[in-house]
Amino acid sequence: MKTMTQDIIVIGGGVIGTSCALALQQAGQSVLLLDREAPGAGASSGNAGHIATEQVFPLASTEILLQLPKMLLDPLGPLSIDWRYLPQITPWMLQLVSNMRPKVNKRSADALSTLNRASLTAWRDMLGSINRTDLLQEKGSLLAYEKPETKASLLTHMEKLSTYDVPVAHLDGAELHEHAPALSKRLLGALEFPATAHVTDPLKLVEALFEAAQQQGMTYSQTAVTGGRLTEAGVELETADGTLRCKRVLIANGAYAKPLVRALTGVKVPLETERGYNLMLPKELDTLPVAVTSAERRFIMTPMQGGLRLAGTVEFAGLEREANMKRARMLQQHAQALFDRPLNTEGAEPWMGRRPSLPDSLPVIDRTGPKGEVLLAFGHQHLGLTQAALTAQLISQLYQNQPTTYDLEPYRLSRFRN
Ligand SMILES: Cc1cc2nc3c(=O)[nH]c(=O)nc-3n(C[C@H](O)[C@H](O)[C@H](O)COP(=O)(O)OP(=O)(O)OC[C@H]3O[C@@H](n4cnc5c(N)ncnc54)[C@H](O)[C@@H]3O)c2cc1C
Repeated sequence: MKTMTQDIIVIGGGVIGTSCALALQQAGQSVLLLDREAPGAGASSGNAGHIATEQVFPLASTEILLQLPKMLLDPLGPLSIDWRYLPQITPWMLQLVSNMRPKVNKRSADALSTLNRASLTAWRDMLGSINRTDLLQEKGSLLAYEKPETKASLLTHMEKLSTYDVPVAHLDGAELHEHAPALSKRLLGALEFPATAHVTDPLKLVEALFEAAQQQGMTYSQTAVTGGRLTEAGVELETADGTLRCKRVLIANGAYAKPLVRALTGVKVPLETERGYNLMLPKELDTLPVAVTSAERRFIMTPMQGGLRLAGTVEFAGLEREANMKRARMLQQHAQALFDRPLNTEGAEPWMGRRPSLPDSLPVIDRTGPKGEVLLAFGHQHLGLTQAALTAQLISQLYQNQPTTYDLEPYRLSRFRN
């Protein structure tokens, strides 16, 4: 058994864990970061890079429920279930459906919008503090549509967004093409979200946070955490390299957090993974000025330093099953339909990652344990990149027993106490 001298061990070097590690180091705490792989190896490396402050509505909605059969039957559809995984995912799905009740749905939307409203400023501050604002492109984003009938539903969506003060404008076809000339003339218009942004490379972002935290004194060890328990003195963690004893721990290992949360808090948290895919087109540099989402096809195209990233889709197949890269490749078909010229797909690279998702679409941001030994930051589903810098600020406040900027009640682990 090794007794660690650092103030806190952070488990998980994704965008959430590294942001928290950096914020804690900046606040004067010493951090040991553990990850079984290289930092950023999980969902955080391949996401769509969209600082999606406009996405204030939870995944669960009656609208989605009505579209479900069509989506599941379409082989190019945005949603798929590995039917062998159905028995395991059913309880989570039932909770998701139960959260569609208007009161619960509104509570989640309120809580999401609280986080999203402050997320871009938090990124600006965090990246500013390490002189890396170059990684953030604050140019807004577009939600484009192809079918005339989509316009009405987007205008309704726009009205709903205005109740949450999300800045949004409708662009007609000419305005859209002026903004993004490469897009096909088949696209009829778009919603524009000026208060959104994108990052130029999600993996480089995590690496920049990691390096900055190391410069501030953070130590790192590549090892898997296999278990843990609370003791009188704090926390004991089982790792591939032996037992580590420490005073406090932050669980930030994304979609894999469930067993550790159980071991250290006793709570059986309904954490599932929504697997998502991307296809990177390295030859399509500077094709688009901003991230463009297709309203009908439900995927996003983000201009990055390494090319155009096509990303999205949701697949329920658990943590262990092999990736089905056909789902990444189908994104190419969808993207091609949005351009009049053939896309250059030379060197296209498929990727799959695991979003950590809870059935109310809210993350857990909390501190618990008899002496506050266990901090928690996981379950950020489709918005982990968006909310990471803000999560880090809140975790740092919790750690230092400071009043938090927002009431953290909606994000507490106790909402799942069983
Ligand atoms: C296709 C796709 C597109 C997305 N697009 C966006 C987007 O545009 N905007 C947005 O905001 N979000 C997006 N997301 C969601 C976002 O990527 C995730 O919410 C976010 O990356 C989660 O970060 P994390 O740090 O919690 O998890 P991860 O990045 O998965 O990191 C977890 C880390 O923990 C480590 N780990 C796991 N278990 C252990 C263990 N037992 N011991 C040690 N280490 C362990 C892993 O190796 C990993 O490095 C997207 C996701 C996908 C899949």
